[in-house]
Amino acid sequence: MAGPFGWGAVRKTPNAYTHPMIAFQNSYASLPDRFHARLDPTPVAAPSWLAFNTPFAEHLNLTALHSDEGLQVLAGNSVADTSTPIAMAYAGQQFGNWSPQLGDGRALLLGEVEADGTIYDVQLKGSGPTPFSRRGDGRAWIGPVLREYLISEAMAALGVPTTRALAAVATGETIIREAPLPGAVLTRVARSHLRVGTFQYFAIREDKDALERLTAYAIKRLWPEADGPAGLLDAVVGAQAELVAKWMSIGFIHGVMNTDNVSISGETIDYGPCAFMDDFALNRVFSSIDEGGRYAYGNQPHIAHWNLVQFAQALLPVMQVEAAQEIVDTFSTRFAIAQKKAMLAKIGIGDAQAGDAELINRLLTIMEERSLDFTNTFRALNSGIVPDDDWGADWRARLGEEAQQIMAAANPAIIPRNHRVEEIITAAVNGDMVPFERLHEALKTPFTDHAEFATPPLSEERVQATFCGT
Ligand code: AMP
Ligand code: MG
Repeated sequence: MAGPFGWGAVRKTPNAYTHPMIAFQNSYASLPDRFHARLDPTPVAAPSWLAFNTPFAEHLNLTALHSDEGLQVLAGNSVADTSTPIAMAYAGQQFGNWSPQLGDGRALLLGEVEADGTIYDVQLKGSGPTPFSRRGDGRAWIGPVLREYLISEAMAALGVPTTRALAAVATGETIIREAPLPGAVLTRVARSHLRVGTFQYFAIREDKDALERLTAYAIKRLWPEADGPAGLLDAVVGAQAELVAKWMSIGFIHGVMNTDNVSISGETIDYGPCAFMDDFALNRVFSSIDEGGRYAYGNQPHIAHWNLVQFAQALLPVMQVEAAQEIVDTFSTRFAIAQKKAMLAKIGIGDAQAGDAELINRLLTIMEERSLDFTNTFRALNSGIVPDDDWGADWRARLGEEAQQIMAAANPAIIPRNHRVEEIITAAVNGDMVPFERLHEALKTPFTDHAEFATPPLSEERVQATFCGT
């Protein structure tokens, strides 16, 4: 099972761009060769801006990238002199099917930057083929690029740990999907791009040395309090339990919870076929490739647990099996606690009492039976509307003084609804970025009312399926 090793450095962009403001570190590139393939992005014909995240760039001290030279860097036409671009190696189970080698097939890590004591990866996505591309073209079209930009930024504003979007640029090139479509490159920022699949890549190769290095790297960078592999596993189990509970509390369906899309940092990663629910249904699925409903809304905790079992398994060469089992077994309890807290906040309850779980469950049952809109039903409770039924009476009787405040922080007024996301993509393909900008602006303050973006889709506007989005 040979990895893509020994390619050597591929310099496709001879004119390195020098800017003193962009001092990339390259800690992952400094790991041994078998962790990555070293190559430059593939240049594109005619880059132009689609979006640049100025507030986040300010936070990262990367505003210098919002320039003509920066555009060339973010399109992959030039490489900063401090950057050592690499495609990261990883494996993974996709819909349960094992792939010993996936890796960054269309992404390149440019390097890392430090802000407020945290180190962030800066990665181009859609920057051309790599040794991990298999049959893919290494590219992305503007649909999924803008989708990821918009939804990941909305998630951040909603308080959910997530990778961020720094920029989106159009390449001026056409790529072929179901049709010829305009190409784009996303600049993604993450606390790290380490995945469960990164560990699996080395576990399947019985490369204990690499697993030890990877564990040490992950602890140092992401979980400095963690004590060895057991501490790392414990931290990741806890972070994933919290993350999936947060997703579910805002009606988010990730859609492609493969082990290569489970981040060791506990951030949401990979916005392919994800979607927010309109009307509530536990078995809701959007991804057109998820035929069995493996990643349905209500199945997400189960799958997260399964993915963490795979992580524990990958760590077995460097830790005791009993300890791994014991830690992974804590997932269900930790998830249940996180979920209960998140869901009770949505009905204004801070400190849980006996009977509260039943109260929220009864509401969810009513919502599902009546196909009520997830976001708007909870949001209506904020405004003091008490449903005129048994549930409403029981709820009113239970409410404490601080209920309003708790609900206001837990129930967003708007989420990126599918039909809106489709609308902005269609407009962008036709060269109109205004709908994107307006929706993106509103989603920066999702807990404030924005009536225009709060309405559920009309029946003819309903999006039935989202695509893998490549
Ligand atoms: P994803 O479904 O985005 O999690 O990607 C799964 C795997 O397919 C990863 O190894 C990606 O790098 C790879 N991949 C996805 N799209 C492309 C593409 N257009 N070209 C090359 N590789 C790709
Ligand atoms: Mg992925």
